Amino acid sequence: MDMIDHYQPEYVARFVQKVCTCPACQQAPEGWPHVSVALKNQQRESLSMNCEAAASAILLDPEAFVLSATREKAQGEQLLTPWKEMLNQQCINLAVHPAMSLEVCLYAIGVLISKAQQYRDNGESDPAMLASMAEQLMLLAEQGVLERQFGELPAIPQNRLSALKMMGSLRLNLNLPMAEKMGVMLKLSELSIMPPARLEERLAGLDFTKRQITLFSEQPHILRNLLIYKLYHDVFPGVECANYGEAYLALATTFFRLRTLCAIAAGERGELSNEQVVTFISALSAWEQQHPLTTDDAHTADYSLLCGLSLL
Ligand SMILES: [Zn+2]
Repeated sequence: MDMIDHYQPEYVARFVQKVCTCPACQQAPEGWPHVSVALKNQQRESLSMNCEAAASAILLDPEAFVLSATREKAQGEQLLTPWKEMLNQQCINLAVHPAMSLEVCLYAIGVLISKAQQYRDNGESDPAMLASMAEQLMLLAEQGVLERQFGELPAIPQNRLSALKMMGSLRLNLNLPMAEKMGVMLKLSELSIMPPARLEERLAGLDFTKRQITLFSEQPHILRNLLIYKLYHDVFPGVECANYGEAYLALATTFFRLRTLCAIAAGERGELSNEQVVTFISALSAWEQQHPLTTDDAHTADYSLLCGLSLL
């Protein structure tokens, strides 16, 4: 019997199962929100973000991602290739790097992913190439070069506008008081019918509000934990994923949507509570799981990647 690494983050170890009344738990099977990502050569213990109590455990604890490992029997059949394992690990290394802001982390992951796709398309499969690329990126981050490059990315307002318009079709099961829920849902649904000039104005207003929200600078671990969770739990860019650009676009879209939701709820004063953010992330996660982002087959991985970068 093969013994493999079995990982458990602190958010799983510290999670106390109690009766949870969140929308997802009302139709949940036994044992949920505990989830195992069982692969042939490693296993990752986790919780589903769709449960609000689990989302709090994942997002609000700065220590949530301290990882412990044991050797246990393999339960899964699917193999995580050394290439994918390294790519995922290096994405996580970039995500936890202290020299980078969240946006610069996402940018660095985009650069790594793009290079990885090039290597892969050229038939290269030596994981050491990914490690050395990530090392170079970290060096550039420490020298402030990545931040400068990120600041010089050309803006593609059209992508942000269409991502905003698409948010009009989000149907979120928000666990909020009825009046608050209705307010957010109305502001979302009007996005799909706004004339282009109004939509542009709204985007500018929301972008302004996003910068006023102090919660994310006061508690930077919330969004950082969301990023690490997406990388760890989804084994980003995905065990079976062949189009890395598409996976990256989905990741960037989640952050764009979340920040927009927060700006909608925060209003002009930019005030937002921990609980609201947890509710949004949890509801958005449940919706996105049911409605994965689909991209045009004609779009190359590079095109999707550029779209993703323009949403940061
Ligand atoms: Zn729950």
